[in-house]
Formats: sequence, C-alpha cells, structure tokens
Amino acid sequence: MERPRGRRSLKDAKYWRCSKGYKNQPELHEFFDTPPFVCGCGCKQKHKGDFDFCLDHVTVNGSGLLGDFIDQADEELCIACTYGKQLEVTKRIKYLMKGRNPESPTPRVIPSDLDVKYEKMIGDYPKGGIAQLILMGLILKEQGILNESCTCIYKASNVSVIPEKDPARIVA
Ligand SMILES: [Zn+2]
Repeated sequence: MERPRGRRSLKDAKYWRCSKGYKNQPELHEFFDTPPFVCGCGCKQKHKGDFDFCLDHVTVNGSGLLGDFIDQADEELCIACTYGKQLEVTKRIKYLMKGRNPESPTPRVIPSDLDVKYEKMIGDYPKGGIAQLILMGLILKEQGILNESCTCIYKASNVSVIPEKDPARIVA
C-alpha cells in the first residue's frame, strides 16, 4: 500500500522548461521532491535553476524527521554531535518509514562517547576541521556510538567522501 505523502517541504522543487518548451515535472521522492537534473525530452539540457530543500520542514505521521536539536553547550563536540545526530535521524526515518513512534525506543545517542573514542585512538591531534571529520567518521564505522539508554551501539555501515559540488549525490 502506498504511504500518504503527508505534509511536503515548503521548498519542494517546481517544474522547469527547457528551451524547446518541454515541461519537466519534479521528481517525486519520499520526503521532498527534486527537479530532474537533465531534461526529459532528450535534448540533454541540464537544470540551471537553484533549489533548496529543508528536512526540518517535513513531517511524517505528525513527527518531524530531525527531532530535537542536540545542545553541545560549551564543549568542543561539534563533529561528534553532528555524527550522533546523523545516526539518530537515520534511525528516526527508519522508524517513521515503518509507521512506528520515532522516539521508542529512543534513537538518541551520546555524542561524548564518540569523542572519548576519538581521543583514545587519535589523541589531541588533529582537533577540528576536515581531518577530524574523516577520522571520526571512520571511528563511527569501526567502533560506533553508544545510544542514550546505553543498550546498543550504532555504527555507520559505510563512510565515503563525495565531491562537494555534486548536488545529485548529496541529495541521494
Ligand atoms: Zn528538452
């Protein structure tokens, strides 16, 4: 049975026309729609417009995709919090896709757990920046991060690096 599409993002893509007049309708996806990146008439023209999307504008069965913000307070936990939130959101989306309550069991994690593992493996250097981003991502894959109720470890099944100016892959 098809899931109801529910409330859409305010930033959902609009149609665009190529110079031959072909009307390219947005591609429908589960949570937000994107413009087709190449014209569907075969002229090979690429989508030149800009578009935004905002996951925080999307709700599923009345629940937000992202949940509450993580407050890192005064600690240097920016990257650990970012990864922790990423895994939490992945769990939330899995629950929501199955029609379950996204908070039960809690998908939240303990960001400082990842930071402690990083310190143990890498020490103080490098702290911050792209190096920590990549190294911490690898630790997330190998050792994972503890959930808030200390009942399981969430791991990233894969870590990869993609070009920063490849919108199709970023959206995917
Ligand atoms: Zn065309």
